[in-house]
Amino acid sequence: MRFTPQDEEFRAEVREWLTANLTGEFAGLRGAGGPGREHERHDERLAWNQHLAAAGWTCLGWPAEHGGRGASLIQQVIFYEEYARADAPARVSIVGEELLGPTLIAFGRPDQHERFLPPIRAVRELWCQGYSEPGAGSDLASVATRAALDGDDWVINGQKIWTSLAHVADWCFVLARTEAGSRRGGGLSYLLVPMDQPGVTVRPIRQLTGTAEFNEVFFDDARTAAANVVGAPGDGWRVAKATLAIERGAAMLGQQVGFRRELEDLTAEARRTGAARDPLIRDQLARAWIGLQVIRCYALDTVGPDEGTADPARASVLKVLWSRWHRDLGELALTIAGPDSPGYDRWRRLFLFSRADTIYGGSDEIQHDIIATRALGLPRS
Ligand SMILES: Cc1cc2nc3c(=O)[nH]c(=O)nc-3n(C[C@H](O)[C@H](O)[C@H](O)COP(=O)(O)OP(=O)(O)OC[C@H]3O[C@@H](n4cnc5c(N)ncnc54)[C@H](O)[C@@H]3O)c2cc1C
Repeated sequence: MRFTPQDEEFRAEVREWLTANLTGEFAGLRGAGGPGREHERHDERLAWNQHLAAAGWTCLGWPAEHGGRGASLIQQVIFYEEYARADAPARVSIVGEELLGPTLIAFGRPDQHERFLPPIRAVRELWCQGYSEPGAGSDLASVATRAALDGDDWVINGQKIWTSLAHVADWCFVLARTEAGSRRGGGLSYLLVPMDQPGVTVRPIRQLTGTAEFNEVFFDDARTAAANVVGAPGDGWRVAKATLAIERGAAMLGQQVGFRRELEDLTAEARRTGAARDPLIRDQLARAWIGLQVIRCYALDTVGPDEGTADPARASVLKVLWSRWHRDLGELALTIAGPDSPGYDRWRRLFLFSRADTIYGGSDEIQHDIIATRALGLPRS
């Protein structure tokens, strides 16, 4: 991969902007947030995210007609690289910017674009993803949350679970069964539901890390306008799968830059503790570095302008590659930085949170099944 002079100019612009702006009230936010630390200084990170938005540094890849920069994939990678290099705080609006936004652009109506995209771009409305249920995780087509039309509204009843950041979200995109008696992917709809209403209850779930990044969400006669359905009523499965392909593909571009940062810091830690002289540790660090190069190349080759929706098997390969890599890095981190290390808390958190990587966005076993059927043409299990 080569950067053109225009790309380098873009890099200089991003770097300069971040240097000039991660100062004053925002200076102390460096390094705040991230996996397992979503609770950290949320309100200040929200303000920072809005500051980014005001300068046009959100939704970079969205087409200009939808308020984005229409940035090329390479430019987005450059942005994320510089963002990580500057140690800028984790963004709070990723679900809206990277999952719902692209889905709405692909499947939404013009009036929905007009209503929902600007507040996502400006980080005035935060989103969460209401897919999983106690009886529908890997087997997502078993969704049992129901919604029925009542006058001008959908009325929603059911329970979602593992809903990341629901406790701070203004809206939720909910996969619900809108055709009574329908089964599997048929009869589901993709609804946009406001969280701030009496029919919605959010209960945090405490995680291994000690923090509560995800939640249970209960819908008891919750309501949303009839118009707030993405795609045709009953056609939600198609839309939901497109969001999943984006989640497994394009949305990880920024994340893998964070991985590089972690690997660099862990390598520095190994030097500091002397572990870097251990041949087995050196071997594992070298392997981790190689793995990251593979992920980077595969990611760039996989996520194109179609945002990874074209070939779900490739998005699944990428998901398996990065989730395993990150989980292994978590294990290596604890080998290098034992309980006596000053950085122990950080590495322990990485170890614990990375256990979730092979689960969320679809578990490894499910990705294997997709690869087996879609890429290898094997019969369905
Ligand atoms: C940190 C985190 C954040 C999350 N955030 C969200 C969110 O914001 N919104 C949301 O909707 N969901 C979210 N999830 C939920 C996530 O998508 C589900 O946990 C995941 O899809 C697995 O579903 P499950 O937990 O019900 O496990 P199950 O489906 O019960 O699976 C249990 C085990 O059985 C295996 N298994 C299941 N079926 C098969 C099969 N057919 N063949 C082989 N093995 C199988 C699985 O691989 C897994 O190992 C999050 C999860 C985590 C960990």
